[in-house]
Amino acid sequence: MKKHYDIIAIGAGSGGLSVVERAAEYGKKCLVIEVKTIGGTCVNAGCVPKKVMWFAANTGVMIKNAQGFGFEVEQKGFSWKKLKAGRDNYIKGITDWYDGYLQKLGVDYIHGFGQLVGKNTVSVNGKEYTAEYIVLSPGGEPVVPHIEGAEYGITSDGFFALEEFPKKVAVIGGGYIGVELAGVLNALGSRVALFSRGGKLLSGFDPMIQNTLDKDYSNHGITIHHNTQISKISKYKTLFINQGEFAGFDTIIWAVGRKPMTQHLGLEVAGVKCDQKGFIPTDKFQTTNIDNIFALGDATGRTPLTPVAIAAGRRLSDRLYNNMTDRHLDYHNVATVVFSHPPIGTIGLTEVQANEKFDKVKIYKSEFTPMADALLKHKTTTALKLVCVGDDEKVVGCHIIGHGADEMLQGFAVAIKMGATKKQFDDTTAIHPTSAEELVTMR
Ligand SMILES: Cc1cc2nc3c(=O)[nH]c(=O)nc-3n(C[C@H](O)[C@H](O)[C@H](O)COP(=O)(O)OP(=O)(O)OC[C@H]3O[C@@H](n4cnc5c(N)ncnc54)[C@H](O)[C@@H]3O)c2cc1C
Repeated sequence: MKKHYDIIAIGAGSGGLSVVERAAEYGKKCLVIEVKTIGGTCVNAGCVPKKVMWFAANTGVMIKNAQGFGFEVEQKGFSWKKLKAGRDNYIKGITDWYDGYLQKLGVDYIHGFGQLVGKNTVSVNGKEYTAEYIVLSPGGEPVVPHIEGAEYGITSDGFFALEEFPKKVAVIGGGYIGVELAGVLNALGSRVALFSRGGKLLSGFDPMIQNTLDKDYSNHGITIHHNTQISKISKYKTLFINQGEFAGFDTIIWAVGRKPMTQHLGLEVAGVKCDQKGFIPTDKFQTTNIDNIFALGDATGRTPLTPVAIAAGRRLSDRLYNNMTDRHLDYHNVATVVFSHPPIGTIGLTEVQANEKFDKVKIYKSEFTPMADALLKHKTTTALKLVCVGDDEKVVGCHIIGHGADEMLQGFAVAIKMGATKKQFDDTTAIHPTSAEELVTMR
């Protein structure tokens, strides 16, 4: 007889783990299936290893900057191997912890490739399991374009697997992953060229952010090539692009987007619809076109961020098992951070989007050299913008680039989510001396 569960999740990343964790807390019998490593992209090849690298890069920058504050220090060496070993060990600690945690919760875990073989049935490792509800949370994987020599490049997954410090790197892609990897490598001492398809980095972000980042990256040694189309890579890692040939790289990193891992999931067998790109559309309750099958996280093509997948998963279990009949995730005003150097924090509408949507838009901006850099030779820029609309100047967008932007935004995100106005920002007494105080003193 097939083993029966209340709920089965395919994919043990941010979304899949969250839904079964919450369901198990409500006393439900859960199974989660994972083909690679428990924890998914965020823990193994995304947010967590990326942030460790960002901290390492910041430390490198601080060593260089220390002289400005009178310290006679010299960077005597840097061991990529030691950094990688420490990072891998840290991540292993997290994944080991998950194993024990699932056991404690009473959640069954199977390592293998899960496939739908019916509306209520999943197959893994040649065995079938049934459930009242099935959650599809397979996440995504990096895209590698179909061009000659594409295989001479690596992806973000390959970046985290690198055993040697890359000295001369081409990063292809001006989205947030490309920008983050370029920033980390540059700060650690690689020579980095960043190739972007469009005329700006971070397409879709506020122009103030795009322009400030472009200027800061260029000032700090990253060579940026805009409007590039790569046609070929030779086996000696020469890039052939519309602007000529670029040679001498030891590492080429593809950062040109991610695609959902839905190809072999058995969607057609269970009748689950996906779009042309393979993303699984859902309603606001994460329900697919099949009423007992749900989809979460990156595979739905909506706001591919860890906290989004987690929140959607938890809310789904709250709704299914705790009588919270309207519980769902509101995808508006999700704050996000780009761990560039300096970091970027952004929430809500850009100036361009606000002008398209509203008649009365008022912009407040501020740009300065942060005090942290005042004594340094190499300075960064801090730029902040509030996008306000209507007579009451409701704040519908907040965009920050500069030291501390990553930690600054969360509190402002609460205020914006609550519908705060510019006057309420102004009525908040500033914290001095900080960069964040500008957000409550702008005129
Ligand atoms: C380099 C990088 C940096 C990132 N940085 C950030 C960041 O700073 N902040 C942030 O919020 N987000 C970040 N993200 C995005 C974040 O990692 C994802 O949004 C998040 O992991 C999505 O969760 P998920 O559950 O949808 O998918 P995932 O975490 O990808 O989990 C899906 C899991 O399902 C497994 N799987 C797939 N198909 C099957 C199958 N058929 N059977 C069994 N298992 C299967 C996969 O192996 C995977 O482990 C980053 C991503 C990358 C690549």
